[in-house]
Amino acid sequence: MASFAVVGGGLAGISVAHRLHHAGHHVVVFEKSRGQGGRLSTRRLADWQVDHGTQYFTARSAEFQAEVNRWQSLGWVQLWSVEPWMLHRETFTPSPDNQQRFVGVPTMNAMVHGLSEGLEFYSECRIDRLEKQQQKWRLWDGHGEHYGLFDAVILTAPLAQSLALLPAGAKAEASLRQATMTPTWAFGLALAEPSGIKADALFANDGIVTWACRDSCKPGRPSHYESWIVHFSPKWTANHLDASEDLLHQQVVHLLERLAGKPIRIHEYFKHRWLHARSSKQGNVIPLWDVDNGVGLAGDWTVGSRLEDAWLSAQTLAEQLLSDFAQ
Ligand SMILES: Cc1cc2nc3c(=O)[nH]c(=O)nc-3n(C[C@H](O)[C@H](O)[C@H](O)COP(=O)(O)OP(=O)(O)OC[C@H]3O[C@@H](n4cnc5c(N)ncnc54)[C@H](O)[C@@H]3O)c2cc1C
Repeated sequence: MASFAVVGGGLAGISVAHRLHHAGHHVVVFEKSRGQGGRLSTRRLADWQVDHGTQYFTARSAEFQAEVNRWQSLGWVQLWSVEPWMLHRETFTPSPDNQQRFVGVPTMNAMVHGLSEGLEFYSECRIDRLEKQQQKWRLWDGHGEHYGLFDAVILTAPLAQSLALLPAGAKAEASLRQATMTPTWAFGLALAEPSGIKADALFANDGIVTWACRDSCKPGRPSHYESWIVHFSPKWTANHLDASEDLLHQQVVHLLERLAGKPIRIHEYFKHRWLHARSSKQGNVIPLWDVDNGVGLAGDWTVGSRLEDAWLSAQTLAEQLLSDFAQ
Protein backbone atom coordinates (compact mmCIF):
# COMPACT_ATOMS: atom_id res chain seq x y z
CA MET A 1 0.00 0.00 0.00
CA ALA A 2 1.34 3.44 -0.95
CA SER A 3 0.31 6.77 0.55
CA PHE A 4 -0.85 9.73 -1.54
CA ALA A 5 -1.60 13.36 -0.71
CA VAL A 6 -4.05 15.03 -3.10
CA VAL A 7 -4.10 18.83 -3.14
CA GLY A 8 -7.52 20.09 -4.30
CA GLY A 9 -11.00 18.67 -3.84
CA GLY A 10 -12.51 19.47 -7.25
CA LEU A 11 -13.62 16.73 -9.66
CA ALA A 12 -10.02 15.95 -10.71
CA GLY A 13 -8.70 15.59 -7.15
CA ILE A 14 -11.64 13.57 -5.86
CA SER A 15 -11.67 11.32 -8.96
CA VAL A 16 -8.01 10.40 -8.67
CA ALA A 17 -8.36 9.96 -4.88
CA HIS A 18 -11.42 7.73 -5.42
CA ARG A 19 -9.50 5.44 -7.81
CA LEU A 20 -6.45 5.14 -5.54
CA HIS A 21 -8.51 4.64 -2.37
CA HIS A 22 -10.61 1.89 -3.96
CA ALA A 23 -7.42 0.17 -5.13
CA GLY A 24 -6.38 -0.12 -1.46
CA HIS A 25 -3.95 2.82 -1.12
CA HIS A 26 -3.90 5.38 1.68
CA VAL A 27 -5.13 8.72 0.31
CA VAL A 28 -5.68 12.08 2.00
CA VAL A 29 -7.31 15.03 0.20
CA PHE A 30 -6.50 18.63 1.21
CA GLU A 31 -8.92 21.37 0.13
CA LYS A 32 -8.59 25.07 0.90
CA SER A 33 -12.35 25.77 0.75
CA ARG A 34 -15.10 24.59 3.07
CA GLY A 35 -16.51 21.95 0.75
CA GLN A 36 -15.75 19.78 -2.23
CA GLY A 37 -16.34 20.55 -5.88
CA GLY A 38 -14.03 23.49 -6.65
CA ARG A 39 -15.37 25.26 -9.73
CA LEU A 40 -18.42 22.96 -9.70
CA SER A 41 -20.10 25.32 -7.31
CA THR A 42 -23.57 26.42 -6.37
CA ARG A 43 -24.32 29.49 -4.22
CA ARG A 44 -27.26 28.75 -1.93
CA LEU A 45 -29.26 31.68 -0.54
CA ALA A 46 -32.63 31.84 1.23
CA ASP A 47 -35.18 30.23 -1.15
CA TRP A 48 -32.94 30.38 -4.20
CA GLN A 49 -29.65 29.13 -5.56
CA VAL A 50 -27.44 29.58 -8.60
CA ASP A 51 -24.58 27.60 -10.16
CA HIS A 52 -21.96 30.30 -10.50
CA GLY A 53 -19.06 28.18 -11.82
CA THR A 54 -19.59 25.27 -14.24
CA GLN A 55 -22.93 25.74 -16.01
CA TYR A 56 -23.38 22.25 -17.42
CA PHE A 57 -21.13 19.60 -18.85
CA THR A 58 -21.01 17.48 -21.97
CA ALA A 59 -19.55 14.02 -22.57
CA ARG A 60 -17.60 13.70 -25.82
CA SER A 61 -15.49 10.62 -25.08
CA ALA A 62 -16.91 7.12 -24.65
CA GLU A 63 -15.17 6.74 -21.24
CA PHE A 64 -16.67 9.87 -19.80
CA GLN A 65 -20.09 9.12 -21.32
CA ALA A 66 -20.04 5.74 -19.51
CA GLU A 67 -19.16 7.46 -16.22
CA VAL A 68 -21.90 10.07 -16.72
CA ASN A 69 -24.40 7.26 -17.36
CA ARG A 70 -23.33 5.75 -14.03
CA TRP A 71 -23.75 9.11 -12.25
CA GLN A 72 -27.19 9.42 -13.85
CA SER A 73 -28.23 5.98 -12.60
CA LEU A 74 -27.09 6.97 -9.08
CA GLY A 75 -29.22 10.16 -9.27
CA TRP A 76 -26.18 12.49 -9.02
CA VAL A 77 -26.71 14.16 -12.41
CA GLN A 78 -29.55 14.77 -14.83
CA LEU A 79 -29.91 15.72 -18.45
CA TRP A 80 -30.72 19.42 -18.87
CA SER A 81 -32.82 19.70 -22.04
CA VAL A 82 -32.16 23.31 -22.83
CA GLU A 83 -32.33 25.00 -26.21
CA PRO A 84 -29.78 27.79 -26.21
CA TRP A 85 -30.17 31.10 -28.03
CA MET A 86 -27.47 33.29 -29.49
CA LEU A 87 -27.10 37.00 -28.94
CA HIS A 88 -25.04 38.62 -31.66
CA ARG A 89 -25.01 42.43 -31.71
CA GLU A 90 -28.71 43.33 -31.87
CA THR A 91 -29.99 39.94 -32.99
CA PHE A 92 -31.29 37.39 -30.55
CA THR A 93 -32.09 34.04 -32.20
CA PRO A 94 -32.53 30.36 -31.31
CA SER A 95 -29.32 28.41 -31.77
CA PRO A 96 -30.35 24.75 -31.56
CA ASP A 97 -27.68 22.04 -31.46
CA ASN A 98 -27.54 18.30 -30.76
CA GLN A 99 -25.43 18.65 -27.63
CA GLN A 100 -26.53 16.68 -24.57
CA ARG A 101 -25.98 18.83 -21.49
CA PHE A 102 -25.85 17.47 -17.94
CA VAL A 103 -26.03 19.13 -14.53
CA GLY A 104 -25.43 17.89 -11.00
CA VAL A 105 -28.59 17.66 -8.85
CA PRO A 106 -29.62 19.28 -6.60
CA THR A 107 -26.32 21.18 -6.79
CA MET A 108 -23.60 21.11 -9.41
CA ASN A 109 -21.09 19.26 -7.18
CA ALA A 110 -23.40 16.30 -6.38
CA MET A 111 -21.18 13.75 -8.15
CA VAL A 112 -18.07 15.00 -6.34
CA HIS A 113 -19.87 14.42 -3.03
CA GLY A 114 -20.82 10.95 -4.20
CA LEU A 115 -17.29 10.05 -5.30
CA SER A 116 -15.73 11.37 -2.08
CA GLU A 117 -17.57 8.95 0.16
CA GLY A 118 -15.09 7.15 2.43
CA LEU A 119 -12.18 9.46 1.58
CA GLU A 120 -10.04 11.13 4.24
CA PHE A 121 -10.69 14.81 3.53
CA TYR A 122 -9.31 17.95 5.19
CA SER A 123 -11.37 21.05 4.36
CA GLU A 124 -10.29 24.67 4.91
CA CYS A 125 -6.74 23.41 4.63
CA ARG A 126 -4.69 25.40 2.13
CA ILE A 127 -1.41 23.69 1.35
CA ASP A 128 1.34 26.27 1.15
CA ARG A 129 4.50 24.25 0.83
CA LEU A 130 5.84 20.77 0.04
CA GLU A 131 8.95 19.46 1.72
CA LYS A 132 10.93 16.38 0.69
CA GLN A 133 12.12 14.16 3.53
CA GLN A 134 13.81 10.82 2.93
CA GLN A 135 12.26 10.46 -0.54
CA LYS A 136 8.78 11.21 0.83
CA TRP A 137 6.60 14.33 0.93
CA ARG A 138 5.56 16.38 3.91
CA LEU A 139 2.83 19.02 3.30
CA TRP A 140 2.59 22.31 5.18
CA ASP A 141 -0.61 24.35 5.45
CA GLY A 142 -1.14 28.10 5.86
CA HIS A 143 -1.21 27.79 9.67
CA GLY A 144 2.16 26.06 9.93
CA GLU A 145 0.63 22.60 10.49
CA HIS A 146 2.28 19.70 8.67
CA TYR A 147 0.95 16.41 7.27
CA GLY A 148 2.68 13.33 6.01
CA LEU A 149 4.88 11.62 5.06
CA PHE A 150 3.47 10.56 1.65
CA ASP A 151 5.00 8.51 -1.16
CA ALA A 152 3.62 10.92 -3.77
CA VAL A 153 1.79 14.21 -3.92
CA ILE A 154 -0.85 14.97 -6.54
CA LEU A 155 -1.51 18.60 -7.41
CA THR A 156 -4.98 19.33 -8.82
CA ALA A 157 -5.38 23.01 -7.94
CA PRO A 158 -5.76 25.44 -10.87
CA LEU A 159 -2.59 26.16 -12.85
CA ALA A 160 -1.13 29.10 -10.88
CA GLN A 161 -1.77 27.43 -7.53
CA SER A 162 -0.26 24.11 -8.69
CA LEU A 163 2.73 25.91 -10.17
CA ALA A 164 3.32 27.66 -6.83
CA LEU A 165 3.61 24.25 -5.13
CA LEU A 166 5.55 22.43 -7.86
CA PRO A 167 9.09 21.56 -6.73
CA ALA A 168 11.88 23.34 -8.62
CA GLY A 169 13.17 21.23 -11.48
CA ALA A 170 9.98 19.15 -11.77
CA LYS A 171 9.43 17.59 -15.19
CA ALA A 172 6.32 19.69 -15.94
CA GLU A 173 7.71 23.04 -14.83
CA ALA A 174 8.51 24.44 -18.30
CA SER A 175 5.14 23.49 -19.80
CA LEU A 176 3.27 24.92 -16.82
CA ARG A 177 5.09 28.22 -17.23
CA GLN A 178 3.79 28.45 -20.82
CA ALA A 179 0.16 27.74 -19.90
CA THR A 180 -2.41 30.34 -18.84
CA MET A 181 -5.88 30.54 -17.34
CA THR A 182 -8.34 33.38 -17.82
CA PRO A 183 -10.67 35.05 -15.29
CA THR A 184 -14.48 35.38 -15.30
CA TRP A 185 -16.85 37.64 -13.41
CA ALA A 186 -20.07 35.86 -12.46
CA PHE A 187 -23.21 37.71 -11.39
CA GLY A 188 -26.10 35.74 -9.89
CA LEU A 189 -29.55 37.10 -9.13
CA ALA A 190 -33.12 36.27 -8.20
CA LEU A 191 -35.91 38.27 -9.80
CA ALA A 192 -38.76 39.71 -7.76
CA GLU A 193 -41.21 38.79 -10.55
CA PRO A 194 -41.05 36.65 -13.71
CA SER A 195 -39.13 38.23 -16.57
CA GLY A 196 -40.98 36.66 -19.48
CA ILE A 197 -37.64 36.17 -21.28
CA LYS A 198 -38.13 33.54 -24.00
CA ALA A 199 -34.73 31.85 -23.82
CA ASP A 200 -33.60 29.74 -20.88
CA ALA A 201 -29.95 30.08 -21.88
CA LEU A 202 -27.98 32.17 -24.28
CA PHE A 203 -24.49 32.40 -25.64
CA ALA A 204 -23.52 36.01 -26.24
CA ASN A 205 -20.96 37.49 -28.50
CA ASP A 206 -21.09 41.15 -27.56
CA GLY A 207 -17.63 41.48 -26.01
CA ILE A 208 -18.92 41.92 -22.46
CA VAL A 209 -21.01 38.89 -21.66
CA THR A 210 -20.50 35.32 -22.93
CA TRP A 211 -23.31 33.45 -21.22
CA ALA A 212 -26.58 34.02 -19.39
CA CYS A 213 -29.02 31.42 -18.18
CA ARG A 214 -32.16 30.99 -16.16
CA ASP A 215 -30.67 28.76 -13.48
CA SER A 216 -34.06 28.03 -11.92
CA CYS A 217 -35.06 26.06 -15.04
CA LYS A 218 -32.37 23.42 -14.47
CA PRO A 219 -33.67 20.09 -13.14
CA GLY A 220 -33.92 19.72 -9.37
CA ARG A 221 -33.62 23.46 -8.62
CA PRO A 222 -35.88 25.47 -6.28
CA SER A 223 -38.49 27.39 -8.26
CA HIS A 224 -39.64 30.00 -5.73
CA TYR A 225 -37.71 32.71 -7.59
CA GLU A 226 -36.67 33.00 -11.21
CA SER A 227 -32.88 33.04 -10.88
CA TRP A 228 -30.23 33.97 -13.47
CA ILE A 229 -26.49 33.72 -13.78
CA VAL A 230 -24.49 35.92 -16.13
CA HIS A 231 -20.82 35.34 -17.03
CA PHE A 232 -18.67 38.18 -18.31
CA SER A 233 -16.10 37.51 -21.03
CA PRO A 234 -12.51 36.67 -20.03
CA LYS A 235 -11.25 39.78 -21.86
CA TRP A 236 -13.75 42.14 -20.25
CA THR A 237 -13.10 40.56 -16.85
CA ALA A 238 -9.33 40.88 -17.25
CA ASN A 239 -9.80 44.58 -18.05
CA HIS A 240 -12.20 45.06 -15.10
CA LEU A 241 -10.74 42.82 -12.41
CA ASP A 242 -11.81 45.31 -9.74
CA ALA A 243 -15.25 46.00 -11.23
CA SER A 244 -17.68 47.36 -8.65
CA GLU A 245 -20.94 45.62 -7.85
CA ASP A 246 -22.71 48.66 -9.36
CA LEU A 247 -20.96 48.30 -12.70
CA LEU A 248 -21.74 44.58 -12.97
CA HIS A 249 -25.32 45.14 -11.81
CA GLN A 250 -25.81 47.86 -14.43
CA GLN A 251 -24.52 45.63 -17.27
CA VAL A 252 -26.68 42.68 -16.18
CA VAL A 253 -29.85 44.76 -15.83
CA HIS A 254 -29.21 46.27 -19.26
CA LEU A 255 -28.85 42.79 -20.80
CA LEU A 256 -31.88 41.23 -19.09
CA GLU A 257 -34.10 44.23 -19.87
CA ARG A 258 -33.05 44.01 -23.52
CA LEU A 259 -34.05 40.33 -23.52
CA ALA A 260 -37.27 40.86 -21.57
CA GLY A 261 -38.30 43.96 -23.50
CA LYS A 262 -39.42 45.55 -20.23
CA PRO A 263 -37.96 46.69 -16.88
CA ILE A 264 -36.98 43.94 -14.44
CA ARG A 265 -36.95 43.99 -10.63
CA ILE A 266 -34.17 42.21 -8.76
CA HIS A 267 -34.90 40.57 -5.40
CA GLU A 268 -31.30 39.73 -4.43
CA TYR A 269 -27.93 39.37 -6.18
CA PHE A 270 -24.26 38.55 -5.66
CA LYS A 271 -21.04 38.75 -7.63
CA HIS A 272 -18.20 36.26 -7.73
CA ARG A 273 -14.82 36.67 -9.38
CA TRP A 274 -13.13 33.55 -10.74
CA LEU A 275 -9.48 34.48 -11.11
CA HIS A 276 -8.61 31.07 -12.57
CA ALA A 277 -11.77 30.19 -14.49
CA ARG A 278 -10.82 28.47 -17.73
CA SER A 279 -7.60 27.34 -19.32
CA SER A 280 -6.55 28.95 -22.57
CA LYS A 281 -4.34 25.96 -23.27
CA GLN A 282 -3.26 25.48 -26.84
CA GLY A 283 -1.79 22.08 -27.35
CA ASN A 284 1.36 22.01 -25.17
CA VAL A 285 1.57 18.56 -23.61
CA ILE A 286 1.85 18.54 -19.83
CA PRO A 287 3.40 15.37 -18.34
CA LEU A 288 1.06 14.21 -15.58
CA TRP A 289 3.37 11.92 -13.61
CA ASP A 290 6.91 12.79 -12.57
CA VAL A 291 8.22 9.54 -11.17
CA ASP A 292 11.62 10.99 -10.19
CA ASN A 293 10.06 13.66 -7.99
CA GLY A 294 6.98 11.69 -6.91
CA VAL A 295 4.67 14.47 -8.11
CA GLY A 296 1.48 13.99 -10.14
CA LEU A 297 -0.70 16.60 -11.83
CA ALA A 298 -4.36 16.50 -12.79
CA GLY A 299 -7.01 19.09 -13.57
CA ASP A 300 -8.87 20.43 -16.59
CA TRP A 301 -6.00 22.77 -17.51
CA THR A 302 -3.58 19.86 -18.00
CA VAL A 303 -5.51 18.73 -21.10
CA GLY A 304 -8.17 21.31 -21.96
CA SER A 305 -10.72 23.55 -20.30
CA ARG A 306 -13.85 21.52 -19.64
CA LEU A 307 -15.10 19.36 -16.80
CA GLU A 308 -14.62 16.25 -18.94
CA ASP A 309 -10.92 17.18 -19.24
CA ALA A 310 -10.61 17.30 -15.45
CA TRP A 311 -12.07 13.79 -15.18
CA LEU A 312 -10.00 12.38 -18.08
CA SER A 313 -6.75 13.77 -16.66
CA ALA A 314 -7.56 12.16 -13.30
CA GLN A 315 -8.13 8.77 -14.98
CA THR A 316 -4.88 8.98 -16.97
CA LEU A 317 -2.89 9.87 -13.86
CA ALA A 318 -4.61 7.20 -11.76
CA GLU A 319 -3.71 4.51 -14.36
CA GLN A 320 -0.05 5.55 -14.23
CA LEU A 321 0.03 5.59 -10.43
CA LEU A 322 -1.78 2.26 -10.09
CA SER A 323 0.74 0.72 -12.45
CA ASP A 324 3.82 2.27 -10.74
CA PHE A 325 2.57 1.51 -7.22
CA ALA A 326 1.14 -1.95 -7.98
CA GLN A 327 0.98 -3.96 -4.78
C1 LIG B 1 -17.26 30.46 -14.60
C2 LIG B 1 -16.95 29.06 -15.08
C3 LIG B 1 -17.78 28.43 -15.99
C4 LIG B 1 -17.51 27.15 -16.43
N1 LIG B 1 -18.38 26.53 -17.27
C5 LIG B 1 -18.14 25.27 -17.67
C6 LIG B 1 -19.09 24.59 -18.47
O1 LIG B 1 -20.17 25.11 -18.76
N2 LIG B 1 -18.79 23.32 -18.89
C7 LIG B 1 -17.61 22.69 -18.52
O2 LIG B 1 -17.39 21.53 -18.93
N3 LIG B 1 -16.71 23.31 -17.75
C8 LIG B 1 -16.95 24.58 -17.30
N4 LIG B 1 -16.06 25.21 -16.49
C9 LIG B 1 -14.80 24.52 -16.18
C10 LIG B 1 -14.99 23.49 -15.05
O3 LIG B 1 -15.50 24.15 -13.93
C11 LIG B 1 -13.65 22.88 -14.75
O4 LIG B 1 -13.18 22.23 -15.92
C12 LIG B 1 -13.65 21.85 -13.61
O5 LIG B 1 -14.49 22.18 -12.57
C13 LIG B 1 -12.21 21.70 -13.14
O6 LIG B 1 -12.12 20.75 -12.10
P1 LIG B 1 -10.72 20.57 -11.37
O7 LIG B 1 -10.89 19.53 -10.33
O8 LIG B 1 -9.66 20.39 -12.40
O9 LIG B 1 -10.39 22.00 -10.71
P2 LIG B 1 -11.16 22.80 -9.57
O10 LIG B 1 -12.60 22.52 -9.62
O11 LIG B 1 -10.71 24.21 -9.69
O12 LIG B 1 -10.58 22.16 -8.23
C14 LIG B 1 -9.34 22.55 -7.69
C15 LIG B 1 -9.47 22.67 -6.18
O13 LIG B 1 -8.19 22.99 -5.63
C16 LIG B 1 -8.41 23.81 -4.49
N5 LIG B 1 -7.13 24.45 -4.17
C17 LIG B 1 -6.48 25.43 -4.84
N6 LIG B 1 -5.32 25.72 -4.25
C18 LIG B 1 -5.22 24.91 -3.17
C19 LIG B 1 -4.24 24.74 -2.14
N7 LIG B 1 -3.10 25.46 -2.14
N8 LIG B 1 -4.47 23.84 -1.16
C20 LIG B 1 -5.63 23.10 -1.13
N9 LIG B 1 -6.59 23.22 -2.09
C21 LIG B 1 -6.39 24.10 -3.09
C22 LIG B 1 -9.50 24.75 -4.96
O14 LIG B 1 -10.15 25.36 -3.87
C23 LIG B 1 -10.40 23.81 -5.75
O15 LIG B 1 -11.43 23.27 -4.93
C24 LIG B 1 -16.34 26.48 -15.99
C25 LIG B 1 -15.52 27.10 -15.05
C26 LIG B 1 -15.83 28.37 -14.57
C27 LIG B 1 -14.97 29.01 -13.51
